[in-house]
Amino acid sequence: MAWKPSEPLMKRISHYASFPPTGVSLRQMVQFGEKPSTGTLFRASQFLSEELPVRLAHRVEELNKLPDGLGDMSSIQKVRDWYAQSFEEITEMAKPDLDKGTRDRLLNPPKKSNQKLSNNVRNPSMNKNGDNGGGVNSRRYFAAIDDDNWPPELADHNKKFSRMLENIKRRHDPVVTTVAQGINEYKRKRQRMQIDASIQSFLDRFYMSRIGIRMLIGQHIALTTQSNHRHPNYVGIICTKTNVRELAEEAIENARFVCEDHYGLFDAPKVQLFCPKDLTFMYVPGHLSHMLFETLKNSLRAVVERHGAEKEEFPITKVIIAEGKEDITIKISDEGGGIARSAIPLVWTYMYTTVDATPELDPGFNASDFKAPMAGFGYGLPISRLYARYFGGDLKLISMEGYGTDVYLHLNRLSSSSEPLQ
Ligand code: ADP
Ligand code: MG
Repeated sequence: MAWKPSEPLMKRISHYASFPPTGVSLRQMVQFGEKPSTGTLFRASQFLSEELPVRLAHRVEELNKLPDGLGDMSSIQKVRDWYAQSFEEITEMAKPDLDKGTRDRLLNPPKKSNQKLSNNVRNPSMNKNGDNGGGVNSRRYFAAIDDDNWPPELADHNKKFSRMLENIKRRHDPVVTTVAQGINEYKRKRQRMQIDASIQSFLDRFYMSRIGIRMLIGQHIALTTQSNHRHPNYVGIICTKTNVRELAEEAIENARFVCEDHYGLFDAPKVQLFCPKDLTFMYVPGHLSHMLFETLKNSLRAVVERHGAEKEEFPITKVIIAEGKEDITIKISDEGGGIARSAIPLVWTYMYTTVDATPELDPGFNASDFKAPMAGFGYGLPISRLYARYFGGDLKLISMEGYGTDVYLHLNRLSSSSEPLQ
């Protein structure tokens, strides 16, 4: 029997959904340093044990209120139940009893002068229990405490909390494909050809929120691991010296490999890379790889289909990387024939693809840890744009119909922008 949320649980979820989520910037996320202390991790877990339920609750509420009967699809209900179950696990996890000294140390961390504190105080458990239950807001979360020597309950709790998050992250791996299945069900039942604007904007919000939740969870799990094994240049899953050239080379190689495999080519169309030497910046390498891989696959597909798989020589696709003060911009320029101007808005809609036979949706396939096929889900561009926007960047596409397409990937290098939350 599948797990189902109870009535009181749904009430609690509604309560949490009445609080706004708290945004976190890349810069704030790296303030933990490379080897966070037990106290720092514990405080981070307190922040997450309030922030994650708020974010999960918003998704449950929204999944319950979808327009046009979309929420009745069994796949959508399955996803809603995953969110509710994760909400329950986090909110019901027991917190250790701490002595007053430890509580004081956690609540009043030594001030660091380089920290811009956000005064965003929001604490659902405060409203529920009439006190703040040792609750922590983002401002305290982002002040690393260096000194160690904490009671053993803290380290135990950190381990348990991180294990719970791993479990939740795994539960939500198939969310993208399961929602896609739900949309397919809906399109079939309601005989819709395309999704309308309200469903498009729901999906944008939903997947953007998922990126944020997975970022916070992935970051916390990695920080917990790193408290034992120090990893130079990494703070959690953020790399302070992300090497753009290396990631681009790897993405080119992967995209060409998938292309050769898909079209049975001996040699995929060539890609030429122009990148300033030693260009590094702070970013999440996994996100950048995803965006590069998706846009490159699109270009290679367009080139092959425009010129025919039997062609001996294809025009070369160029990847040009520029380093500015504000942005790092990556342009992917292909001669794949471009896109008709009337189809440009469509390429940003979910499930829009010009592939005739959509490949089977495999629930094990996860759009963010790609084992992705060449094309056909129509998720490549919209999801990549969400990744770009998540850290204040953007993804744009300019086409010359009859010639080719330029895709611009703008990445904000200041990284001070906060997560986009509605
Ligand atoms: P998919 O690749 O699964 O079809 P995407 O979201 O990656 O989904 O792309 C959607 C559609 O946009 C593609 O099916 C294709 O028609 C069009 N497209 C994307 N990139 C290019 C490009 N570089 N050249 C021509 N068409 C493109
Ligand atoms: Mg694609």
